Amino acid sequence: MPHDIKNYVAGQFVAADKQFDDINPVDGTLVGRVHEADRATVDRAVAAARDALHGPWASMGAAGRAAILNKVADGIEARFDEFVDIEIADTGKPLTQARTLDIPRGAANLRFFAGLVLSANGEYFETPTPDGGSALNYAVQKPLGVVAVISPWNLPFLLMTWKLGPALAAGNTVIAKPSEETPGSAALLAEVMHEAGVPVGVFNLVNGFGPDSVGEFLTTHSGVDAITFTGESATGSAIMRAAAENVKALSFELGGKNAALVFDDADLDAAIDGTVRSVFSNCGQVCLCSERVYVHESLFDTFVARLSERAAALRMSWPSDEQTEIGPLVSTAHRDKVLAYYALAREEGANVITGGGIPEFGDARDNGAWVQPTILTGLPETARCVREEIFGPVCHIAPFATEDEAIAMANASDYGLAAAIWTRDLSRAHRVARQIEAGIVWVNTWYLRDLRTPFGGVKLSGIGREGGIHSLNFYSEPTNICIRL
Ligand code: NAD
Repeated sequence: MPHDIKNYVAGQFVAADKQFDDINPVDGTLVGRVHEADRATVDRAVAAARDALHGPWASMGAAGRAAILNKVADGIEARFDEFVDIEIADTGKPLTQARTLDIPRGAANLRFFAGLVLSANGEYFETPTPDGGSALNYAVQKPLGVVAVISPWNLPFLLMTWKLGPALAAGNTVIAKPSEETPGSAALLAEVMHEAGVPVGVFNLVNGFGPDSVGEFLTTHSGVDAITFTGESATGSAIMRAAAENVKALSFELGGKNAALVFDDADLDAAIDGTVRSVFSNCGQVCLCSERVYVHESLFDTFVARLSERAAALRMSWPSDEQTEIGPLVSTAHRDKVLAYYALAREEGANVITGGGIPEFGDARDNGAWVQPTILTGLPETARCVREEIFGPVCHIAPFATEDEAIAMANASDYGLAAAIWTRDLSRAHRVARQIEAGIVWVNTWYLRDLRTPFGGVKLSGIGREGGIHSLNFYSEPTNICIRL
């Protein structure tokens, strides 16, 4: 029985005349029918969110809001299997990943920011006055107001809660817009919010697309004070233009074309294990994935051979199979985009060491959005496949001779989200890490996250930082009060 995925506005689940399909990328089956919010529904959501800014949500203070967020986290854990099931149906990701990463992190995000908001310190300064007296300056933190939360499809629940946690903890009200590809877990979250007693209008959910749909209605709406967006860099540009008229606050986590650097002193086994993870996790659909791998020339042939062997052996199977290592891409449209890059790589002169096509299963999975894990070599650094984000299970491997050359190759990108460095030389690790133009640099690991640390990118990869106090700083606005003593 397909899910009936409605909007959630002013504390009520709302149907729409217009609906679209939510498709399972594993085998092309129907997950649900999604009610697309029209402009009037978005207007009602914005009005409800504005009203709710001054109701019980404000008066209950940070402690009250933290208690409710913890209750929502309890509700996610109570319905854990339902969240896992819908996330898998929407994305095709392996059960083991949804169970150990996506859904637990969703609950953890809410608990983390519920705790953090209670321990956040204010700032104050004593200032001498010209007549020899003094004044006390202190800053009170206020919510930004109504926040539009626009999220992508690759880690739908993890990324949405990563924004909702701090936005709500800081006292904002929100209108969430999940990706049209993966609306299921957000719809379930609306039920949990409702059951947990989140006051009416504090959390609203509207489903739809970007241009000429919910995305555009929200980003151009004069009643929306801030937009927090994770998605493609080109979409970020469009949102920036849309938000310019009302000068909305913006937080952007955008695309990446991340480099991994493997030096000749690296622990090769660890570097290969780590690079298998950093290239192929979530079928390469993590903004932090390495799509450019630079390997010292002395190791190049061995590294290419070993990584390719591992790539070809990755188990592509049903999400429910606990041995599955790699699932499909999110949709056949995205698969076609990735396949177009595989074709372009060949035109640009790449050696396709492994993969480069579609796997054949001989069962219902042939109706899904699968592609083979792919390793490329031999492209010039100017090739489009080396410069543009592909967002699939693919990397290009190139050799380097010196440390300076490796740094220059890593930095020769329009993007600057993350990098991974593999070396056993401590001085080199520090020296190289600080020269990389990226918001996050991992040394001898990848995707090891501490929710307190700053997360975000430079150049086309984003604006601002999320994580810990950085998130709370974005979602609140200080008013300085100066008192003559
Ligand atoms: P996308 O930009 O296509 O869509 C993201 C969201 O924006 C969706 O909800 C979509 O409906 C909405 N949207 C699209 N056009 C819009 C418009 N004009 N106005 C308002 N909203 C609009 O991204 P995607 O394909 O869903 O996700 C993949 C991208 O996200 C990749 O580029 C990836 O690198 C990036 N990403 C970045 C991070 C990070 O933290 N930096 C994390 C995950 C994904």
